[in-house]
Amino acid sequence: MADAFDVIVIGGGPGGYVCAIRAAQLGLKAAVVESRGALGGTCTNVGCIPSKALLQSSHLFDEANHAFAAHGIKVGKVEIDLPTMMARKDGVVKQNTTGIEFLLKKNKVAYLKGYGRIAKAERGAHQVAVKGLDGKEETYTTKYVVIATGSDVTPLPGVIIDEKQVVSSTGALVLPKVPKSMVVIGAGVIGLEMGSVWRRLGSDVTVVEFLDVILPPMDGEVRKQMQRILEKQGMKFKLGYKVTAAKPGKDGVAVTIEPAKGGAAEQLSADVVLVAIGRRPFIDGAGLDTAGVTIGKRGFVEVDHNYQTNVEGIFAIGDVIGGQMLAHKAEDEGVACAEILAGQPGHINYDAIAGVVYTWPEVAGIGKTEEQLKEAGIAYNVGKFPFTANGRARANGDTDGFAKILADAKTDRVLGCHIVGPAAGDLIMEVAVAMEFGASSEDIARTCHAHPQLGETVKEAALAAGKRALHI
Ligand code: FAD
Ligand code: NAD
Repeated sequence: MADAFDVIVIGGGPGGYVCAIRAAQLGLKAAVVESRGALGGTCTNVGCIPSKALLQSSHLFDEANHAFAAHGIKVGKVEIDLPTMMARKDGVVKQNTTGIEFLLKKNKVAYLKGYGRIAKAERGAHQVAVKGLDGKEETYTTKYVVIATGSDVTPLPGVIIDEKQVVSSTGALVLPKVPKSMVVIGAGVIGLEMGSVWRRLGSDVTVVEFLDVILPPMDGEVRKQMQRILEKQGMKFKLGYKVTAAKPGKDGVAVTIEPAKGGAAEQLSADVVLVAIGRRPFIDGAGLDTAGVTIGKRGFVEVDHNYQTNVEGIFAIGDVIGGQMLAHKAEDEGVACAEILAGQPGHINYDAIAGVVYTWPEVAGIGKTEEQLKEAGIAYNVGKFPFTANGRARANGDTDGFAKILADAKTDRVLGCHIVGPAAGDLIMEVAVAMEFGASSEDIARTCHAHPQLGETVKEAALAAGKRALHI
């Protein structure tokens, strides 16, 4: 038997590595088991980071093509050097994965390279077997196990992902050339982000969505505005359709779609099809069955309010337990779980976790949507302010979108905020802090915002919630 630990975290994604660092900071002997050969999980290797690198590169290309002229900047023919763009993206990923390895060393967290499996569940002395990349297995004893094995692509029945012509988000991050046409299945976050990347680089992108709306969980007004903006940019939508087949051939992929509510089938064809209909929990081979850990109906690991599974000393965090499948949610659960293991009261306010879609303009939402407030019968005030009326947005030439604040009609407490606009993801963070402190819309409105800033849009939305916006 090899070393003994206080806590072994299975999975080195944002949930897992952050949990181990926080546990080590609190004096626990911690280890992370990771099988992909690099730390950072889905997010750093094939998710948040590479997608944002490509979103940034493709945004610059788009700006050079469409925005420079209005600023009086003349450029010759703007061309894409895709290998350089991809190499830059890979370099950014590498910087982040090696950075995380450094952080583990700095915090004296052991990095166990290999596939982790709970070999034996025994209160106070669980055993985790790690099959190394060389095929050798070592078994470690640990007081606590944290399952942070993340998630994987949800497959679509009848559609085989070959990562060449029919790709998941992972394949969409490494396409060797710009496809002439792309069909994206699913108008969720991945569909719109990766669809935007390839649309900006020159693809003719059609998004097929089962529901009648894009970005289903977001605020209705935001969804409608964003659809209009994306359509103006050239993205096409087939809403209320399901894909029944996608057959790759020599001349591209033949895609069959049918109205979701029934009706005649239609044919689409595309060089590449991206399947982006959601992600599902990943627990394969992690020994949860051996340990007797309860798995819920949709495959998520079930935990109590302390992130503990039904087996004492075995915890779970991040995508694998469901809820918002976001890196920052996984990280905060990692911190809270480590603090609980160290005997402290770890806590997360799930009502103040922002969701951001990194299209351009960006979309950001936090707290309740108008639809949720109506359904719950909560009376609320709405304050809305468009970027067209913001001086900085005009100066930047980025005036699409608005900020909207929803405040309790009786107490004025901020219940939600929804933004479509430039840097919406950064702007929403002041509302996250405000909500964390239980602020009212008046608190935001009375906070002096520097001028000229995009953030004044949030302030004006807060003023508008009290019917006293100044600049509209
Ligand atoms: P993961 O990051 O999935 O990490 C789990 C790790 O566990 C993996 O590295 C896996 O190899 C390892 N593992 C699994 N089983 C074992 C085992 N038995 N032994 C050893 N190792 C194992 N979220 C955002 O907040 N912002 C974004 O911009 C964003 N962009 C995204 C873009 C894409 C294309 C995708 C796919 C996702 C994106 N996400 C984004 C979601 C984000 O990546 C996830 O929410 C986040 O990575 C979840 O973290 P996690 O630690 O729970 O799991
Ligand atoms: P998603 O849940 O965001 O969107 C999936 C979409 O596919 C939904 O609109 C759904 O209605 C649709 N759909 C489902 N089945 C369908 C079918 N058969 N045909 C057509 N449409 C169908 O999922 P995603 O975009 O795959 O992203 C997965 C997860 O990754 C999300 O939970 C998201 O939070 C996370 N992620 C986050 C970010 C970010 O924070 N910026 C970026 C990428 C991914």
